[in-house]
Amino acid sequence: MTDIRVTKGDITQLKVDTIVNAANNSLLGGGGVDGAIHRAAGSELLDECRTLNGCATGDAKITKGYRLPAKHVIHTVGPVWSGGAYKERELLASCYRRSLEIAVEHKLKSIAFPNISTGVYHFPKEEAARIAVAEVKQFVENSPLPEEIIFCCFDDENYLLYQEALR
Ligand code: ADP
Repeated sequence: MTDIRVTKGDITQLKVDTIVNAANNSLLGGGGVDGAIHRAAGSELLDECRTLNGCATGDAKITKGYRLPAKHVIHTVGPVWSGGAYKERELLASCYRRSLEIAVEHKLKSIAFPNISTGVYHFPKEEAARIAVAEVKQFVENSPLPEEIIFCCFDDENYLLYQEALR
């Protein structure tokens, strides 16, 4: 059975098979967790990202992890919250599902997610947490991999919301 847990802190420090990046459509770096991942991984990550031709919202693409403790980075693009009538919920669920599908394709055993879209993309945190947990739980019902899934929360509010959502 897959171990699903919550931790608080900096995702760039986690020694897992893959961390997930909350990227933007260009995949060429940005602020928030994206900036932190590129800084920690080094410029080779950007070089590889340049070869990927961007990524659609709700989809994901994988690269190596370079100087990160994580072996890979799965870059996914969350929706910008625009009030909820623009498929934001479906697109956010798709980010988690596509990231897990790619992890399984690469036989990765451990994966850590940040709280996608809850920073500058302004997705309401409580609903984002519920969607993330529901999507991940549904995925693991039909898949033996990954063996370990970590929700890496950066702020206290998300950390509490995820503890609630996983209860
Ligand atoms: P988005 O554009 O998808 O909203 P952000 O990077 O602005 O992406 O925020 C996504 C989440 O990542 C936020 O909850 C933010 O607090 C969190 N975050 C920022 N830096 C880090 C980090 N180093 N490790 C883990 N989470 C982080």
